[in-house]
Amino acid sequence: MNRPIRARIDLAALAHNLLIARRCAPRSQVLAVIKANAYGHGLLRAARALQDADGFAVLDLEAAVCLRESGFRRHIVLLQGFFAPDELPLIAENRLTVVIHHQEQIAMLASAWLPVKIDVFLKINTGMNRLGFKPSAFSAALRALQTNRLIGDITLMTHFASADEAEGTMAQLNEFTNLRGDSGLPCSMANSAAILSTPATHAEWVRPGIMLYGASPFPDRAHSEFGLLPAMTLSSEIIAVQQLDSGDAVGYGANYRSDGARRVGVVACGYADGYPRLAPTGTPALVAGQLTQTLGRVSMDMLCVDLSALPQAGVGAPVVLWGEGLAVDEVARKAGTLGYELLCALAPRVPVIES
Ligand SMILES: *Cc1c(COP(=O)(O)O)cnc(C)c1O
Repeated sequence: MNRPIRARIDLAALAHNLLIARRCAPRSQVLAVIKANAYGHGLLRAARALQDADGFAVLDLEAAVCLRESGFRRHIVLLQGFFAPDELPLIAENRLTVVIHHQEQIAMLASAWLPVKIDVFLKINTGMNRLGFKPSAFSAALRALQTNRLIGDITLMTHFASADEAEGTMAQLNEFTNLRGDSGLPCSMANSAAILSTPATHAEWVRPGIMLYGASPFPDRAHSEFGLLPAMTLSSEIIAVQQLDSGDAVGYGANYRSDGARRVGVVACGYADGYPRLAPTGTPALVAGQLTQTLGRVSMDMLCVDLSALPQAGVGAPVVLWGEGLAVDEVARKAGTLGYELLCALAPRVPVIES
């Protein structure tokens, strides 16, 4: 019998969440963001479940080529574009679309030779100050691309710094709309938060990420509010039970001390599986379908949960760490992070099953 930890990926939930994105932005094409191994769900597995998307967005050339080799024929966008000119032949050969966000990339394109044109997303920095051309550099960048014979279709894009906050989004949207002007070029702005909250950002292409995986992009709104279904359920089992007396400690650092008699279950899941080490005592967990909480520090391969109110739960009792019945966002909030980070951090050692 193997160690009982599992990540179950619900393919129907992925397809359902894609449909929600489509319903929210009915006039837009959908570029499903499957970077970071599809936020921990598995690149090709997610691509298969999301095959109705109009395109996929990834970061690595390797992932993009892998999608082509597995037969995906629609748009594939490299969200950070290319990093060196030697990537360009493979990009052209695989008909990949690249984000152009920096003058260096335009210079590399100017001296390249390619057998076919490549399509680009020109990224404008409307306030995030991470990637993209400043508004003052935008028209020169656009002209350089429009006059380069190697460049095919051009789409304009930007990314919101605080799409979960309306005022900042509107300021960036206005800046972008001004620059787009009457260029007539297709545009792409919206991530999950903007898709769910700000229809004015939808334009020709939307770029949902986290919502496809059934987690919320908002700190104060649950995934269920939008009808999203969790795609990943991380589960394990109780592998030992301890009886504590008043004053007994649990785990490293004796960080939790019992205030009375307490029954503790040891769960085969730790930070080496991707569970956040910083999740404190009191982080929710489901044991045999009932809500309880963690006790003490998370260790590499184990964590402890309170079974005092679950006398029937012994060795072998099922434990859900997050997913169906317990939102990853709730666990993340307790650990001071986001559902995004927990999903992406699922460790390779955790066996994945599909359903
Ligand atoms: C990751 C990413 C997205 C998706 O963001 P979510 O918040 O996960 O929806 C969209 N656009 C760009 C450029 C990204 O890097």
